[in-house]
Amino acid sequence: MSDCIFCKIVNEEIPCAKVFENDHVVAFLDISQVTKGHTLVIPKVHKENIYELTPEIASKVFEVIPQISNAIKKQFNPVGLNLLNNNGEQAGQSVFHYHMHIVPRYGKGDGFG
Ligand code: 5GP
Ligand code: ZN
Repeated sequence: MSDCIFCKIVNEEIPCAKVFENDHVVAFLDISQVTKGHTLVIPKVHKENIYELTPEIASKVFEVIPQISNAIKKQFNPVGLNLLNNNGEQAGQSVFHYHMHIVPRYGKGDGFG
């Protein structure tokens, strides 16, 4: 999708702080991190939301999440971690290219939740 900001990240038309990439998935730091190390994991193909994901694409996204989570744990040493995926404007989705948030947690007052 030509006007999708995350497709532009996939195509390297706009920069990002990339933390992981393979043939199917890219992960990069959120531009406005709610906590240190807040990361987004996206499929390279444009799918708007969870309803559009095929099982194959969902698998590709989820299969890298433990590895990325462990890398975040090692680097930032959070006390917990949330996975979050917003679908639809009313659910808080603002970028309409499927993404999973990985939000490291640092205890009370860490700015999230
Ligand atoms: P949503 O609200 O759709 O669940 O999450 C979208 C996320 O994308 C937000 O946390 C927002 O900060 C992040 N975001 C929006 N535009 C950009 C961008 O250009 N680069 C990066 N790295 N993150 C972005
Ligand atoms: Zn897109």
